[in-house]
Amino acid sequence: MNQHEHIENDEKYTGLTVNSGVKQQPVVNPYLKPRKRRPLPTSGELVEGILKGDITTLSRAVTLVESLSAEHQTIAQEVIEKCLPYSGNSKRIGITGVPGAGKSTSIDVFGLHVLKEGGKLAVLAIDPSSERTKGSILGDKTRMERLAVHPSAFIRPSPSAGSLGGVARKTRETIVLCEAAGYNNIFVETVGVGQSETAVHSMVDFFLLIQLAGTGDELQGIKRGIMEMADGIVINKADGDNVDRARLAQAQFRSALHLFPPTQSGWFPEVLCYSGYYGIGIEEVWDMIDRYFDFVKENGYFDRKRQEQARYWMFETIDEKLRRNFYTNPEVKQMLEEKEVRVLNNQQSSFTAARDVLDYYFNLLNKS
Ligand code: GDP
Repeated sequence: MNQHEHIENDEKYTGLTVNSGVKQQPVVNPYLKPRKRRPLPTSGELVEGILKGDITTLSRAVTLVESLSAEHQTIAQEVIEKCLPYSGNSKRIGITGVPGAGKSTSIDVFGLHVLKEGGKLAVLAIDPSSERTKGSILGDKTRMERLAVHPSAFIRPSPSAGSLGGVARKTRETIVLCEAAGYNNIFVETVGVGQSETAVHSMVDFFLLIQLAGTGDELQGIKRGIMEMADGIVINKADGDNVDRARLAQAQFRSALHLFPPTQSGWFPEVLCYSGYYGIGIEEVWDMIDRYFDFVKENGYFDRKRQEQARYWMFETIDEKLRRNFYTNPEVKQMLEEKEVRVLNNQQSSFTAARDVLDYYFNLLNKS
């Protein structure tokens, strides 16, 4: 057959008609029913389950906390409000370190160590760069094999990508729910390379920085600011041939810390070596953390810091909500686009453009 004779080469051929004669098969499976959506639980049901320590209800509530839907948020906020009186009774510990520092290996052993004394542990994470679909890199159950199957552990990956403030606030709200569910140990994990540490610092009592020996600070990508936030620096992988190097790094970190301004808590950060993989020095790390809690509870810093954090999150939430309200307003959005063009073309200064848009926005608010 000549290739031009082919039906698809005819000018009239659209490609859409070729199967027009084929009838759609009717649905033959009588058991196939449209999937029903689970009805949303009420805040009362959720709170009841959470207070009983029911892990499925807790997960469901956390999902609502993380959801962007207004309906979900309304329920979530009610649940948080009702859980607040039952929260606060935990040790909140932030754990950070660059990828490869051994965070998941360490959290697995630290977690098992903590759970030896009984109680419960929630492992949460803040990783604004992660998206669920791509596989969250933090707080993933597969990374903490033993904890993942421990009945007293609750592991939750980072809320999916969004603004850092938003992601962090959801984690902070999740802490409240976990505590109400009886989790008296909370670990919050971050990658020690960016801004998220400041957010974690603002929601934990103790900030643990995992470092490695044999690489300079710069190589580890750890910013000086993160070191300054640390209440404890632990050098991981102090095993095998690496022990001497770890000890050397320990001495270097100790002397570096002497150059930092004194901490607000009055606690002098300690530097320890350990091996997460071989389980060496875990007890010493935990003794340090226990000593810290005794110290700050004694001198009143513990309560003061928690109060400061509560205030910080109130203002953070206000900031976030105001900003979202402003930037998602369709009229503001359009005006911003126009103003942006004017500013870029030097037709208007940045400041007057900003003032115009804000004035317009405030007017809209007054009218509503
Ligand atoms: P993360 O990216 O910070 O969570 O680090 P991982 O826990 O995934 O560890 C990164 C790599 O370091 C893995 O191959 C671990 O087996 C290894 N590792 C973790 N802790 C230790 C340790 O204490 N000693 C040694 N030698 N290797 C370790």
